[in-house]
Amino acid sequence: MNKSLSVKSISEPARETKVCYEADVLVVGGGPGGVGAAVCAARAGADTVLIERYGHLGGMATGGLVNIIPNLGDIYGRQHIAGIVQEIIDRMDARGAASYPKKYDWGTSERKVVDLYLNASLRHFYIRENNKLGKEVVLYTALVDPEVLKDELNDMIKEAGVKLYLHSWGTQPIMEGNRVKGVIFESKSGRQAVLGKVVIDSTGDGDLLIPSGADVITGIRRPSRIANLAFCFWITNVDNKKEDEFKAAQPEKYKELMKELTAKRGFAGHFRGLLRDQENVIWFHPHIPADDQTDVEEMTYVDVDTRKRALITWEFLKKYVPGYEKSYIMQTAPQLGTTGGRRVVGEYVLTEKDMNTDEPFKDTIAVFASNDRGELSHQYPRMFIPYRSLVPKNIEGLLVACRAFSSEDSVNTHFNLIPHCLCFGQAAGTAAAIALSSGVSVRDVNIKALKENLLKQGVILPGF
Ligand SMILES: Cc1cc2nc3c(=O)[nH]c(=O)nc-3n(C[C@H](O)[C@H](O)[C@H](O)COP(=O)(O)OP(=O)(O)OC[C@H]3O[C@@H](n4cnc5c(N)ncnc54)[C@H](O)[C@@H]3O)c2cc1C
Repeated sequence: MNKSLSVKSISEPARETKVCYEADVLVVGGGPGGVGAAVCAARAGADTVLIERYGHLGGMATGGLVNIIPNLGDIYGRQHIAGIVQEIIDRMDARGAASYPKKYDWGTSERKVVDLYLNASLRHFYIRENNKLGKEVVLYTALVDPEVLKDELNDMIKEAGVKLYLHSWGTQPIMEGNRVKGVIFESKSGRQAVLGKVVIDSTGDGDLLIPSGADVITGIRRPSRIANLAFCFWITNVDNKKEDEFKAAQPEKYKELMKELTAKRGFAGHFRGLLRDQENVIWFHPHIPADDQTDVEEMTYVDVDTRKRALITWEFLKKYVPGYEKSYIMQTAPQLGTTGGRRVVGEYVLTEKDMNTDEPFKDTIAVFASNDRGELSHQYPRMFIPYRSLVPKNIEGLLVACRAFSSEDSVNTHFNLIPHCLCFGQAAGTAAAIALSSGVSVRDVNIKALKENLLKQGVILPGF
């Protein structure tokens, strides 16, 4: 911060802003949550607009190079997440751009299958201990190619008839009292407005919340997975076999090298890409502790510093580790990784106690496999999400369908991932369309109608 400012703030003159579209449903942010919301609102009959700041859809799942869709099922091999998530995986699979254990391998302890993921360092996403078997088993998790996913999501948006604005930053909600009526966005075409009868904040970081006057939760406590920024990058042309042979022949030397790399501020931890024909690609997801992931100065520092560290990593591996001689950096994520931003205070705030029950809410709109809580996951393998966690407490005409859903840190850290956000989007988009067609506010949508509609879309809900 420049401390010698002579002027602390300026007043902007009032101005006329062109309205470029009047929509039923306006979704801001085209990540997993936003795509889910826009596609489902449009499919349910709402005239829908989607505004995305970058030139592609998918958010962290594409531009963030985070292409692992985990925890679709539990350790017992039961699938919990389906609906639009399964549809995307099926569409990607049809293009040869998805990889996942086949259904008969969900929950298997077969060594060959378990080892495939362990050797790729993908334990965290694929392998859990099944306490009943006393063995490690494989979860239903999918990998997708981010470049194909960008195109597939464009197709889904187009097929659903969503009006899409790319390269457009949603900057300001348009308010009438405590009701959101639309959003002002900035692009190379200048400043314009889209009006929406329902607005869905899918910016991940809850960008519309503070300016609309919604109550928010900020400040994530460390240590926590969601208290980090991240800078993902991929190295390709790696000879895995050669690296494995070196590791097996000289394990101490390998360990020493990784220690040295870490001491030089490089990143030793990585995953092996298991996408079809991409065996020689290595994925890095370095997390950098960050106090405020929406602070532009912090974001700038992390981007510059971590890019340097990515280069240190690659140059070191290339020089010292057999297998990396002909490697190169294939891509760095165009989008800085954000694990947590602001979160809405909704009609219901999910807390730790909600993870420790097997009792669904009356307005459950999604069920998630709870695989990341050790012994507690064995006791409570499912997590239920109420519609109310997407509904801001004190603002009308607004839903939140992204990782900014109403939850405490402890819940958000486990359930803010790609499949979860797609589910929030599916529920919010569907609810918005139903509310509009029945002439009620999104807060008062008919839950029975919403659930029936979600079931028809292949969503797995309790009690059905
Ligand atoms: C390093 C890292 C590793 C991760 N690993 C995994 C993993 O393996 N599997 C997994 O499932 N999840 C993983 N996650 C989490 C996951 O990527 C996110 O939680 C998920 O993508 C959240 O989806 P979202 O739609 O809420 O937000 P995002 O994916 O952040 O999407 C938000 C979208 O909104 C757009 N946007 C933001 N602000 C505006 C604005 N003002 N106007 C217009 N557009 C805007 C963004 O450009 C983006 O497209 C990881 C995250 C990180 C950072």
